[in-house]
Amino acid sequence: MGDARRRIPRTDLLLADPRLAKAADDLGRGVVKAVVAAAQERARSGELAPEGVADEAVASLPSSASSLREVVNATGIVVHTNLGRAPLSAAAVRAVAEAGGSTDVEFDLADGRRARRGRGTLAALAEALPEAGGPDGVHVVNNNAAALLLCALTLAPGKEIVISRGELVEIGDSFRIPDLVTSAGARLREVGTTNRTHLADYADAIGPDTGFVLKVHPSNYVVSGFTSAVPIADLARLGVAVVADIGSGLLRPHPALPGEPDAASALAAGADLVTASGDKLLGGPQAGLLFGDHGLLHRLRRHPAARALRVDKLTLAALEATVRGPAPPVRAFLDTDPGTLRSRAERVAEALSRRGVDAVAVPSIAAVGGGGAPEVELPSAAVSLPEDYAVLLRHGRPAVVGRVERGRCLLDLRTVVAASDDRLVEAVARCTS
Ligand SMILES: *Cc1c(COP(=O)(O)O)cnc(C)c1O
Repeated sequence: MGDARRRIPRTDLLLADPRLAKAADDLGRGVVKAVVAAAQERARSGELAPEGVADEAVASLPSSASSLREVVNATGIVVHTNLGRAPLSAAAVRAVAEAGGSTDVEFDLADGRRARRGRGTLAALAEALPEAGGPDGVHVVNNNAAALLLCALTLAPGKEIVISRGELVEIGDSFRIPDLVTSAGARLREVGTTNRTHLADYADAIGPDTGFVLKVHPSNYVVSGFTSAVPIADLARLGVAVVADIGSGLLRPHPALPGEPDAASALAAGADLVTASGDKLLGGPQAGLLFGDHGLLHRLRRHPAARALRVDKLTLAALEATVRGPAPPVRAFLDTDPGTLRSRAERVAEALSRRGVDAVAVPSIAAVGGGGAPEVELPSAAVSLPEDYAVLLRHGRPAVVGRVERGRCLLDLRTVVAASDDRLVEAVARCTS
C-alpha cells in the first residue's frame, strides 16, 4: 500500500500530460488541478491504481469551467425549480452564446447612439401579446419576485396593498409574497377569509391609503369546497390599480391547463399590471415579465430600484429567442400526446433490455410543478428500472434524475426531449458496466 502511494504521479507531472495541459488552457488551471487532486485522492485511498491517475483525471474533466452539471430531467415534473426550471430551446441557447460577447443591447448600430436596452426583446413580447399595446406595455426584470417588489416599491410605499386572505402565498424555499411586498415598505391589508373573499371585502378596505389591489394566483395549492374569489374583471371596477400576479407566464390560455391564468385574459379582464415568471410555462430564462398600463410601467422603469432589478443581455437574448423562435421544450412537454410517450418508453425499455437491463415501460403521471397547475395530472409514460439506478444515474454524466416509486426508479419521458432518448439509453447502460 505504502509503495503504491509512492507511485502516485506528482501534480506537476500530471499537469504536464498534454491532454491535461490542453484542458488547463480550455477550462482554467484551477479546474484541472481540482480534477487531478480528486484522482490522486482516489489512488491514495486504494480505489485506483497509481498508473490510472492520469487517465482517470482526463475522464473526469468537466465539459465546461462551471461546476453546474447537465441533468436529464426524467422526474416528470415539467417545471422543476431545483433542476433550473424551463430548459431553453436550442435557438435560445444559441442566442445566449452569441450575446455572450459584446452586443448592441443598448446601442443603435445605425446611428451609433445609445438605444433602449433590450428593445428587440420588448418588441417580441409586445408582438406575442398585442393586449400590451406595444413595447411600452412591457417591462422585464430579474424574476417575478422582482416584478412584484418593483410594483410595491413604486406604487405603494407607505401605503396599503389590498390582498385576499386566500391568496397569501408561500412560493417555495420559505419565501412568502406578503413578506416580499411588505419588505418594500408597503403595508398589507388582508381582506376576506382563507376560503371566501367577496367584492364587498375589497370595497370596504379601499381608501386614500390604498396603493393597489394585488391578485395572486395560488399557483402551488388549491382551496376547494365552499370557496369564492373575486375575478379580476370585478376588481378592475373598484377604481384603484389592480396588479395581477399570474405566476407561470402563459401568454394565452393552454387547453391542457384550464385553471391556469394567462396574461392576455388578465389584461382583457382589466388588470392594470400583470406579472409573471419567464422560466415557468413560457419556457424561457429566469425573468420577471410585467405587462400593462404604459403610465404605470413608465413609473416602474424610472424607480431607482429598477436598475437593481434589471436583466442582463444573456437573459434578454434567451427571452427574445424563446418568444420569437421555435416552441421551447416546455411547450413540447405539455403538448406531447401520451401515445407518443408510450412508444418512446417502449423503445427505450427494449433497447435497455437488449443490453441486459431490467427495464419495462410503464404508465406514469407527470405534473406541471414549479408552482403551477397543482391539480393537473398529465398522463405520461416512464421506463421503470430497479431502484438502485436512482443513485447511479444521479452520479452519471449527464446526471439523470428520475423518481423513486414503490421500490422502482422511474424515468418519466414527458420531461425528456425526444432527441435525448438515445442519450438516456446510453446513460443507463453505462451504469451497468
Ligand atoms: C413562481 C411564482 C412567483 C415567483 O416567481 P419567480 O420568478 O420565481 O420570482 C410569484 N408568484 C407566483 C404566483 C408564482 O407562481
